[in-house]
Amino acid sequence: MYKNIRILFAMLVMISVSNMVSAQQKIAKDHINPWIKPLGALPPVANLTEGIWLKGDLHVHSSYSSEGGYDPNRHPVAKILAFAKSVGFGFIAITDHDNHVLGNVEHNTWADPAFKSTDSLLLLYGAEWTTTRGHANTFSAKPYNHQKFYDVRDQRDANIIAVKKELGISVYANHPAGPKDHFGFSYDLVDGMEVWNSCLWTKNANSNLIWEDMLASGRRVTARGGSDTHSPSDVNYIGTPTTWVFAKNRTTQAVIDALNNGRVSVSANPYAPRVEFFADINQDDKMDMMMGDNAKSTGKPIKFRVQLTGNLVADSVYTVNVIKDGRKFGSYKVTAKNPTAEFTDTPKLVDRMYYRLIVEGPSTNYPQVPKSAQVTGNMVALSNPIYFNFDPQF
Ligand SMILES: [Zn+2]
Ligand SMILES: [Zn+2]
Repeated sequence: MYKNIRILFAMLVMISVSNMVSAQQKIAKDHINPWIKPLGALPPVANLTEGIWLKGDLHVHSSYSSEGGYDPNRHPVAKILAFAKSVGFGFIAITDHDNHVLGNVEHNTWADPAFKSTDSLLLLYGAEWTTTRGHANTFSAKPYNHQKFYDVRDQRDANIIAVKKELGISVYANHPAGPKDHFGFSYDLVDGMEVWNSCLWTKNANSNLIWEDMLASGRRVTARGGSDTHSPSDVNYIGTPTTWVFAKNRTTQAVIDALNNGRVSVSANPYAPRVEFFADINQDDKMDMMMGDNAKSTGKPIKFRVQLTGNLVADSVYTVNVIKDGRKFGSYKVTAKNPTAEFTDTPKLVDRMYYRLIVEGPSTNYPQVPKSAQVTGNMVALSNPIYFNFDPQF
């Protein structure tokens, strides 16, 4: 009897497999997907030279992230800001867990006497939206009604997106693949995601897989870093990793605009080299676009340039890995003496394509957080993509 069931089951599997094959053969060649429309004119790419590179950490917890209530000794706001200034940061986001204050961030972290932007260090308004379905950081150039965003956290995603729009805030998924507190919302509600959480780069592999899927599906989701530090440590602390943005000027709004536009790269720490990524799309040997930018391909070859800027370890070799549409495209060696690499490729005329960079090499010392470099290992930096034929209306 048992044997007969096994034979019957095997026959059913064979029948269903043969149905799948014939179904594949029946795909209509003239089928038109109504969602895919010809790409119209794209907005011009922003200026490449008018701006300033600023670095910072976009995921830091203060004394207000204490489950037992405010703990003045844990990680005072004043101490965070003094440290950020000491490593040359241009911006920082103190993103305390909003659930510890039941959403009332406005009268806790933001009301701290030390919570003030200065000319050299810009403070973003935000919090870690800490919900049953996952965590995300909110960013805003000015105070907003965070209580309202906290209150909507368990509702349908469409309602959350509506509240987000009303508040005019940016939302970035945190540690999206966990291992705990993975991001279980629609990625349509985020402007970007944390693909590099803490100095332990290797634990971010699954977050990077999610990011790649979002890019491949046409979503220009910005990748950023965040130390997620809760208190002083010599392993993982403010700046491990460090996020760089190319801001139009030194204002909180310009930092957020640069973030959302993807003119962003992430480095292992504040002293590690920054990676910049450019493309010349009209063969005049002048760079026309940088990471985060989107242009129509012309069907002609495009020259790409990679530039490592900052402290490169002398007499060392860095490896620049180019990822094209989720697959390895090539590998290039750069040195402190010659920190640039160039390559050429021809994106297809109509298809969406993207190119991004992962830089590996010697670790850079971070004296204020002396054990971090060893944990990060040879991961140096990553860039956001340069995009072709992405729909800006998506
Ligand atoms: Zn979290
Ligand atoms: Zn956190």
